[in-house]
Amino acid sequence: MRELLRVSAPVDLGAIDPRSTPGLPEATAGEHRKGWAREQVALLGAGLGRRQEMLYATAKAAQERPGPADRPAGRVLLVLQAMDCGGKDGTIKRVAGAMNPLGLHIRSFGPPTPEELRHDFLWRVRRALPPPGYVGIFNRSHYEDVLVARVASLVPEAVWRARYDEINDFERELTDAGVTLVKVLLHISYAEQGARLLERLDDPRKHWKYNPSDIDARARWDDYQAAYAEALSRCATDAAPWFVVPADRKWYRDWAVAHLLKETFDTLALGYPAANFDLGRERERLRAGEAGAGGTGEMNGR
Ligand code: AMP
Ligand code: MG
Repeated sequence: MRELLRVSAPVDLGAIDPRSTPGLPEATAGEHRKGWAREQVALLGAGLGRRQEMLYATAKAAQERPGPADRPAGRVLLVLQAMDCGGKDGTIKRVAGAMNPLGLHIRSFGPPTPEELRHDFLWRVRRALPPPGYVGIFNRSHYEDVLVARVASLVPEAVWRARYDEINDFERELTDAGVTLVKVLLHISYAEQGARLLERLDDPRKHWKYNPSDIDARARWDDYQAAYAEALSRCATDAAPWFVVPADRKWYRDWAVAHLLKETFDTLALGYPAANFDLGRERERLRAGEAGAGGTGEMNGR
């Protein structure tokens, strides 16, 4: 899936069908596909949870007894970008939901606060990075500063134009520090966004997700697509690749993102750290303690 969904310059989003399902096994044709994909997400999720635990355990062990040969402890950062209703929240719920909350570091980016505006655009992003051993998820990201900032003319063109290089430098710095970046655009169609916005308006339980400004952004659809295409073209690097996930079908979207994460974990060759204590001696101490406490010398009948 990493090979299939990865994009490189020049990125042509119009050539990627948001309803397509690249990589889905041929055998799963027809109506079964949805149920099959949902089952797979649950299975993949269990594997993601195990790998996340290994990442966490390895970082913890390295922290407790740093060695001279230690590389910076690993961390994974999933960057999710999409138009409104693109499915970022749903993807996080479904895919991250399988992992241990203890090792997750999830951050959302909205319009910058007055304090954030007093700093460089990357300031708030640096503060939101996952610590070593964590899986970070960005719900929107520093890419908003070349997307909405560009389309809504929040800053002069010279300012947002300079940001592509700044982003590449920043991401290079991150990968050098042991961060594995997975940047994903959830790619939905104009028609699908329209249907999902209508659903939000029709359902009182979804009004909290709706923002009248969503319609203003929708009116600038083509400008946003162009801004996305340029951001992906300029910032898809070997160190920090961009992936485009067709996202009109939610079940495919979840399956594809779960797969991308699994394959990414696989490149890290994770494992559990070896014990940093003498196992035999610890067993002996435990036994001696049980006997000394006046018990039978057995625990729980073992
Ligand atoms: P939501 O993801 O629906 O909560 O919406 C977050 C909103 O914050 C979106 O309209 C984004 O375009 C906006 N946003 C995020 N980052 C920035 C930024 N750097 N500058 C301006 N608006 C932003
Ligand atoms: Mg929104």
